[in-house]
Amino acid sequence: MQLFVDSLRRNMTAEDVVNLEACMNCKMCGEACAWYLVTGDEKLHPTHKTGFLRQIYQRYLTVEGRIGGALGLVPTPTVADLKENMQYFWACTACGRCTLACPSGISIRRMVRLARAAYTDSGLSQTNPTIRSIIENTDRHRHSFGLTAAQVLGRVGLFLRSEGLEVPVNVSGAELLFVCPAAGNTKIPDYGIKLIKILNAAGVSYTISPYVIDTGTEIDHIAVHHNLSKQMLLDWEEEADRLGVKAILLVECGCDTRTLYAEATETLGRPFRYPIISVDSLMLDLIREGRLPVEKTQLKVTLHDPCYATRLSGLGDLFRELLNLVTDNFIEMTPNREHNYCCNGGAGGMRLPENTNLRRKISVLKANQIRATGADYVTSPCVVCTLSLEDTCQTYNLSPTGERMALVLFEVVYAAMEPALAKRGELDRMRVPAELRHRDHEFFVAHSIEGQIATLMQQPDFPALLEWLEKDDIVKRFSKDHPQVYDLLRSWREFAMSLDPECCR
Ligand code: SF4
Ligand code: SF4
Repeated sequence: MQLFVDSLRRNMTAEDVVNLEACMNCKMCGEACAWYLVTGDEKLHPTHKTGFLRQIYQRYLTVEGRIGGALGLVPTPTVADLKENMQYFWACTACGRCTLACPSGISIRRMVRLARAAYTDSGLSQTNPTIRSIIENTDRHRHSFGLTAAQVLGRVGLFLRSEGLEVPVNVSGAELLFVCPAAGNTKIPDYGIKLIKILNAAGVSYTISPYVIDTGTEIDHIAVHHNLSKQMLLDWEEEADRLGVKAILLVECGCDTRTLYAEATETLGRPFRYPIISVDSLMLDLIREGRLPVEKTQLKVTLHDPCYATRLSGLGDLFRELLNLVTDNFIEMTPNREHNYCCNGGAGGMRLPENTNLRRKISVLKANQIRATGADYVTSPCVVCTLSLEDTCQTYNLSPTGERMALVLFEVVYAAMEPALAKRGELDRMRVPAELRHRDHEFFVAHSIEGQIATLMQQPDFPALLEWLEKDDIVKRFSKDHPQVYDLLRSWREFAMSLDPECCR
């Protein structure tokens, strides 16, 4: 209990105290929260979370509470109460929609983050196996899903090389450092290579890093582990220093957007040292400047506003400007922008398996929103939203064709770019990034994905990597449209066996 209370004492600001004490218990916040609206379960009402936290604050952090508690005049929450209520703080995406409905403008999401941090600081959140794995993986591997750099580079390299594409790795002096959140390079690296093709085609000066392979999304928003979150941000800055880049390229992740636009300053105790360029604003500029040719698609597409990017970071207009440049058939869902319903996937909604049934149930609101648009596709500038939306589309049979219906926004841009390049006979522009063009052989070997793979092949654990790739479900998914990926894997295996015939038996 003491560790929990100490964490609250450390992290609570005067504004948080006002947030806790200003509540009139009018319950209007519940009318905005999908978890409560659909279930009617009082324990999922926002005020159940804030009420419990208020009890702890008043009992342990106020003079009246300490005296009253000692005299048995005020309730004294115990560790058993903490354990019983823990689940409710993760049955919430900290989406902030409830704040819009609150007459006092109380930030319930902020209370939820304070509670999560206290659960983590007290060690209680680690009784949840998923949260424990996020913390341990981030601590040991700097990747919240526990992938190694070899796995991340090996798989992306496999996809890119099977299409004859390249990506710049570890290039000092590139303008932008591109770091992908773990959810992106773990769950959708096969979709993600479209973004690499866009950057290559537009001649953007960027590099990826073989050392920083996660952004810290899950440690900041699911575990709310401030020390590790800080370490991830420092790693990012140090890598940017080492490579001498000018800015960080923020890929489509709502939580990372919020971290870098807001939470990072609190976590670091100072602003993040590098300018942040969102990939959506970059793509918008590239199209406007004529550096990225596009032909508007006829895809009938609706937009899901990620809570963390639109409601909590104010990027709603940007997404619409971009979408209107790449499709003639954009249909708004209702409600939208800051009033949009959450996808229910972020900040643990989707990552914690115990939430699955409930998440699917409450996502009926999202399903109804999408269905009402009559769109063939729903897009979102967030990887996790897209994963959650696809799950919702499948659960509620929304896809008109039965095929994947949820697209990351860069995939819609890609759908507009590819035919434009084809028409100009310029598809080759996607192949080689600016930083690898007109370089000598030595530089290419040191900084291309092909060179990285060649280095991996010399490592003693390459056979284990090969085995992992051969069994990987995402490689299987990619192979449906790219059967040549297994030919490449076979050639890698043959190469490994030529070095050591015993290695892959
Ligand atoms: S932050 Fe979102 S999920 Fe959490 S209580 Fe508020 S509306 Fe519900
Ligand atoms: S709407 Fe605001 S004031 Fe009313 S119960 Fe919810 S948090 Fe309290």
